Amino acid sequence: MSKIILTGDRPTGRLHIGHYVGSLRNRVELQNSGAYDKVFVMIADAQALTDNADNPEKVRQNIAQVALDYLSCGLDPEKSVIFIQSQVSELTELTFFYMNLVTVQRLQRNPTVKQEMILRGFSENEGEENQNKRGVPTGFFTYPISQAADITAFKATTVPVGEDQEPMIEQTREIVRKFNATYGPVLVEPEILLPGNAACLRLPGTDGKAKMSKSLGNCIYLSDSSEEVRAKVKGMFTDPNHLRVEDPGKVENNPVFTYLDAFCKPEHFEQFGDCFHGRKSSFDFHSLDEVKAQYRAGGLGDVMVKNFLAEVLDATLAPIRARRAELEKDIPYVFEVLRKGSDEARRVAAQTLAEVKQAMRINYFDEDVLASLIADFNGRK
Ligand code: ATP
Ligand code: MG
Repeated sequence: MSKIILTGDRPTGRLHIGHYVGSLRNRVELQNSGAYDKVFVMIADAQALTDNADNPEKVRQNIAQVALDYLSCGLDPEKSVIFIQSQVSELTELTFFYMNLVTVQRLQRNPTVKQEMILRGFSENEGEENQNKRGVPTGFFTYPISQAADITAFKATTVPVGEDQEPMIEQTREIVRKFNATYGPVLVEPEILLPGNAACLRLPGTDGKAKMSKSLGNCIYLSDSSEEVRAKVKGMFTDPNHLRVEDPGKVENNPVFTYLDAFCKPEHFEQFGDCFHGRKSSFDFHSLDEVKAQYRAGGLGDVMVKNFLAEVLDATLAPIRARRAELEKDIPYVFEVLRKGSDEARRVAAQTLAEVKQAMRINYFDEDVLASLIADFNGRK
């Protein structure tokens, strides 16, 4: 069986370092590994509209931003099909058929959707984010089904995403099993591929909130300038009880250390070790474990650790930023990539949709089918 990847992002903003470690970095490696027959990467504009129906301009503007983030991180249109969800209308048809295989109760149990509803003020649950309760758009409530359509349309075997997507992949697997058992073996059950590094599963926000998210405004964007990155790191939440430098500090749930876990490489100590040389105290660290041990023991200030983190992040983002600046000079090329990708995606999805309709026996006008429908009717008269 071929090995196929499908993954994507909502164009609700530029992509941030959470996307990078949670999915994008992994995707580029998988694309270049040669281990996959096809890689599909989708800009999920239709899904973004499920909770941004009144702001289509935001979604529209961010299509090019997300495509630029992709290309500048190393997604290569020669190796990956990069496409726009709304341009593949077959996905909507599949969604409509899959809706019959999922109960409302099952959708209500999805923990990620529950959390996102609270965050967006759609939920009945109590919470301070809920001052302006709005009803839940039906499209938003059913987006896990649409995501199943996206994955299965390409017969994806592997979906590299962040941890918050686990319930979506489980929902997809259930739909596949139900469809195949009811209509015949057409669809492929996908596997989730999570980042290997625990810090990358769900990168926290700069404010210490559990998830860095475009919708929460607690992000360091891949396209942020060096100055912006430094200013954001400087203002980051750390251990609130680490008041004086000599106090012992906590590394757990301290986003500065989580980011270091996600980004720091051994060579960074050689390159940026100077950050730990101050007037009052000076350290020669060779590994992150040594930094953590000193922070826990006390005597290591947040400023030093933050300066080091800013260097590490900037070193990671500098080449991405440079590629973006080049690509921004040729936006027509970026849209051409998306157009070609969308054409190719449509061809593949149309083939799956034809198989789905055949299995469901709603392909009335296919050659032999019409003749047998007429014969059936006449035979029963
Ligand atoms: P929105 O707030 O609009 O939902 P988002 O920031 O959650 O945006 P998505 O487009 O929903 O981003 O997610 C795209 C991919 O990035 C998914 O695979 C998701 O798991 C992953 N991802 C998003 N945020 C993080 C994060 N903070 N840490 C790790 N992975 C993340
Ligand atoms: Mg999200």
